[in-house]
Amino acid sequence: MNDSKRKKHSGKRGPDLQNDGFQHQARKRFGQNFLQDQNIILKILQSIRPQDNDHLVEIGPGQGALTRHLLQTCQKLDAVELDRDLAAYLEQTLGSDPRFSLQQGDVLKFDFSQLSDKPRSLRIIGNLPYNISTPCMFHLLNYQSLISDMTFMLQLEVVQRLAAGPGDPHYGRLGLIMQYYCQVEHLFDVPPTAFTPQPKVCSAIVRLTPHVRPPVEVDDVKCLQDVIRVAFTQRRKTLKNSLRTLISEAELNKLTIDTSLRPEKLSLAEYAIISNSISRNRQNAQGAQQKEESHE
Ligand code: SAM
Repeated sequence: MNDSKRKKHSGKRGPDLQNDGFQHQARKRFGQNFLQDQNIILKILQSIRPQDNDHLVEIGPGQGALTRHLLQTCQKLDAVELDRDLAAYLEQTLGSDPRFSLQQGDVLKFDFSQLSDKPRSLRIIGNLPYNISTPCMFHLLNYQSLISDMTFMLQLEVVQRLAAGPGDPHYGRLGLIMQYYCQVEHLFDVPPTAFTPQPKVCSAIVRLTPHVRPPVEVDDVKCLQDVIRVAFTQRRKTLKNSLRTLISEAELNKLTIDTSLRPEKLSLAEYAIISNSISRNRQNAQGAQQKEESHE
């Protein structure tokens, strides 16, 4: 980056960081909070337990706090880093290792299918920039069949939402959708002191393991997502009121569900029952309309 650009962003940067003589000013806009606590780094590695034949993919390697350790045990490590300065530094320090390969760019635009075509072959890791953590996880779900597991550092509150079940105050749309696709494990919490610069909030490590088969049968996942979105947009209302635009009270009453409950009390299995009823009703209505048209 040239000097004029440096000046332009200087107001939004954190303190200087040093690493093997390399100096880097943390960039807030890239969500840069670098891990510096060796005990936490070790604990993360113990959770991942990289194996010799693993194909690892690290999102946002930064200055390589995890990368260097991960490279000690794996067959291949691909990394995606947006910051050009950090990408150049990593290329310079780790680029000679034939197992390491770095893509400089935005993970949200990255095509993970270019890394492998083998089912469940990729192990994804990342101390994710918090500003893009949810879109990043949803982007990765597009490549779900290629992924064996994902271990992420996220804001504690996001991990609580991902792992929450019915009745939990953190239960909602994010957890329900993610739990449809993955097994979610809240592994451990990480204090702000583990990073430089320190974030304002606590963090946590989560493991997401894509299901081989979804935990519930859903005819139309898009319909399930709609039902969950509509239910939680009006989370103070009972189900029969909040879902009125999608399903009549009479249809809802045919299902084995207590429709006087609020959305946060319903399980994923119950949302699947509602969604399947809606999508089957839609199919029946479509079929009837087509029949009518063919008779005209
Ligand atoms: N892994 C390092 C560590 O633990 O110290 C850095 C973690 S830091 C929280 C997030 C990293 O993601 C930074 O290196 C940042 O530059 C990078 N990053 C931010 N936005 C990104 C994006 N859209 N695509 C890829 N990397 C990104």
